[in-house]
Amino acid sequence: MDNPTSAPIIKVMAKLDTDILIVGGGLNGPSLALACAQAGLSSIVVDALPEITRTEPDFDGRAYALALASVRMLDALGVWDGVADHAQPMLEIKASDGRAGEGAAPFFLHFDHAEIEEGPMGHMLEDRYLRRALMTAMAHAPQITHRPGARVVSQGPGSVTLHNGETLHGRLLIGADGRRSGVAERAGIKRTGWGYDQTALVCAVDHERPHNGIAHQFFMPGGPLAILPLPGNRSSIVWSETEPRASELAAADDDTFLAALRPAFGDFLGQITLTGNRHSYPLGLSLAQSFIADRLALVGDAAHGVHPIAGQGLNLGLRDVGALAETLADAKRRGEDIAAPDVLARYQQWRRFDTAGLAVATDTVNRLFSNDNSALRALRDLGMGVVGALPGLRRGFIREAAGLTGDLPRLMQGRPL
Ligand SMILES: Cc1cc2nc3c(=O)[nH]c(=O)nc-3n(C[C@H](O)[C@H](O)[C@H](O)COP(=O)(O)OP(=O)(O)OC[C@H]3O[C@@H](n4cnc5c(N)ncnc54)[C@H](O)[C@@H]3O)c2cc1C
Repeated sequence: MDNPTSAPIIKVMAKLDTDILIVGGGLNGPSLALACAQAGLSSIVVDALPEITRTEPDFDGRAYALALASVRMLDALGVWDGVADHAQPMLEIKASDGRAGEGAAPFFLHFDHAEIEEGPMGHMLEDRYLRRALMTAMAHAPQITHRPGARVVSQGPGSVTLHNGETLHGRLLIGADGRRSGVAERAGIKRTGWGYDQTALVCAVDHERPHNGIAHQFFMPGGPLAILPLPGNRSSIVWSETEPRASELAAADDDTFLAALRPAFGDFLGQITLTGNRHSYPLGLSLAQSFIADRLALVGDAAHGVHPIAGQGLNLGLRDVGALAETLADAKRRGEDIAAPDVLARYQQWRRFDTAGLAVATDTVNRLFSNDNSALRALRDLGMGVVGALPGLRRGFIREAAGLTGDLPRLMQGRPL
């Protein structure tokens, strides 16, 4: 018998500060907090960086190709209205094999949104608008406490200790702390992955001619060059190059950089000029071997960092957010502990297969296309020709790019949580 004196058992439990403790106030962490708020779950979002740093317009030079399903979710979270004016609909995607100065190969893929009923495949949106809109939405949600400038240094099940010694307690701890996730590492979750020996050089250019909402991807020997439409006569460039060439280009002045970019870019948009700063991001694959642990779950890049070749990293993260929020909301409705092992297992089962599949697909496409081997070049040109000639297959790719395939969370179907 546990209590022979039959005196009342006093279990000392830490007072809970919140339902969900989220480490990482990047893009996926705030999205999860907003989604969970809709289910009546409170959260604290902790980020090591001060808010002023993260809201500086030049903090992150990326622009995201947000799939239609992600746009629906941002709309359901009340974020889309604040950024819609800065977003550019993506109407078509053209992908072709290329070599600097040679232009595109005769076979190319062409995906047109007109082949599906749902509308544009997605929207391009610059990080600076999305990040700020997420922070504004958090500030207006009474269920969310944002703790910027607070670095997590240690953790226990459902709790974290900050650099100033303060400890926070929640029912569930979320790692939304990016591809080098300290939350995952401290929980003993191992990662699978490798570097690509490639760096993405990111910038924006103004051009003379309109892009007409068309996104271009040229598969160059050093890596893909993506030209992605932004509002007006502007495009976002993601140029993946192998090292050490990438470092040379990153260190070069703007004129030297543009002189190297122009032959790869071609002249189909007329003269190009740089606008804003250039940024570089080393590329690699990093997959957590488990997305869950004791009272803990991972979302976004903390769970899976993939090659940007398909522009899917954030879209995958937002799917995690939709799936986890839905799993937790359903658990709450049923009166379950939101951090119970079987609840978290449902989330992992939903998301792990999908992300591992996409990680393998992006890895394979990058390896197949980022080289100058003539046999592989012939094979991939043939492959593109075949896909392009089969309307059913082509529509499948378009629906995939729009994020409409697979087991979609309710928020991504435009339904309430
Ligand atoms: C060149 C490039 C282009 C891309 N283009 C696209 C695209 O077109 N479409 C798309 O869907 N995806 C794209 N991606 C992927 C996308 O950028 C990422 O998936 C996304 O930014 C990940 O967001 P996150 O919130 O998971 O992580 P992060 O943005 O990395 O945020 C992690 C946060 O955690 C905080 N943090 C870390 N450690 C601690 C700690 N100890 N204590 C407190 N806070 C901590 C950090 O300060 C940071 O703010 C691209 C990626 C690259 C590199």
